[in-house]
Amino acid sequence: MNKFFYSGAFAIFVLVLFLANETKVFSNMRTFVGSVFFMDSSTERTLKDAYTTSLLDDQRPVKILIVPGHDDKYFGAQFRGLREANINLELAEKLAKLFRAQGRFSVTVTRTQEGYNPVISDFLEREESAILAFVKQKKETMGSLIDRRIVGTVDSIEHVFAPGDTAFHLYGINYFANKNSFDIVLHIHFNDYPREDFRVAGKYKGVAIYIPESQYSNFYGSRALAEKIFERLLKFYPQSSFQREAEGIIPSQDLIAIGAYNTLDSAALLLEYGYLYEPQFQNEEIRDKTLDELALQTYIGTINLLGISYKTKFGSANLGRLDSPSLEYKEAGADVLKLQTALLSLNMYPPKGKTFLECPLSGIFFRCTKQSVLEFQVKYGISPALGYAGPITIKKLNAVLAE
Ligand SMILES: [Zn+2]
Repeated sequence: MNKFFYSGAFAIFVLVLFLANETKVFSNMRTFVGSVFFMDSSTERTLKDAYTTSLLDDQRPVKILIVPGHDDKYFGAQFRGLREANINLELAEKLAKLFRAQGRFSVTVTRTQEGYNPVISDFLEREESAILAFVKQKKETMGSLIDRRIVGTVDSIEHVFAPGDTAFHLYGINYFANKNSFDIVLHIHFNDYPREDFRVAGKYKGVAIYIPESQYSNFYGSRALAEKIFERLLKFYPQSSFQREAEGIIPSQDLIAIGAYNTLDSAALLLEYGYLYEPQFQNEEIRDKTLDELALQTYIGTINLLGISYKTKFGSANLGRLDSPSLEYKEAGADVLKLQTALLSLNMYPPKGKTFLECPLSGIFFRCTKQSVLEFQVKYGISPALGYAGPITIKKLNAVLAE
């Protein structure tokens, strides 16, 4: 053994150390790069903290951005003259009103009956180049993370891809939400699916919520919020029966609205509140009351996550004393919806053996309601129990509700 051997061995030893270290540094760097890009920006904790802060500091309310989907130019789905963009807006306004009345929320709605909210349209115009640069940089970063297999791509549901200006608009809203530290972003939509004849009602029904895919920064907060809202909505409406939405709460990697390419820090949901052709959306009076309910359930789900409970236990926009002395078979309107909701609150609607898929809160007095009323009459000894909501039945129902 000569000194050369020693020095040679030493050199190899150093080289091995160096390589080990390099590998370690490299693997740390992978995690590091990934975690900086995908550092949790919204969790259940940050959302709860936002509410706690709002109680202590009037200057820092919980900030909610409500985005009624589509606009006058691209109005989304349409069924028999009913445009999705309009109903999205009606629901968005009802939701905004509920949050504003609570007192600890600051709400921005991206458009009104008059068009885009100038706060948004001015921002998009002013910040156009910054927004484009922001999106470019995010796409490059994510592209390189995907190439290096630090981030995985996931197959997801095919969506109708947003046209160029819509895509810019949606990315711009994300950038706006990040710059203004919004806590929650809610995109309001009604559903439809590709089929042969759009004049005929489709076969799917129910509610679905899209959330950011699990690798994104805003995943945890979004999922926690989606779960609370979904739980509330399912008390009144069916979960989407479309097999592609079978999970109910569906993670998506490529929906811009909820943060494709990791472009959004806030908790973000894209809510599909039902299929546009469902019966409860066709009659104007019933639709208005249904939107009240959808808004209230979204509101209750959100405040529940923040640790606030709603003032009434059952929590419905359409539960209350029935004013009509009687309700006829085939009658439709707000009073029938109230009757169905009253029976629902007593666990008698949908009737035995049925679900919301066959027996929705439709506001239409048909077979489902008749069977439900009959069950009520049998339980309370009203005869003849034929399922017609006459004065005796309505009076009894009001008495039971008042208990
Ligand atoms: Zn839509």
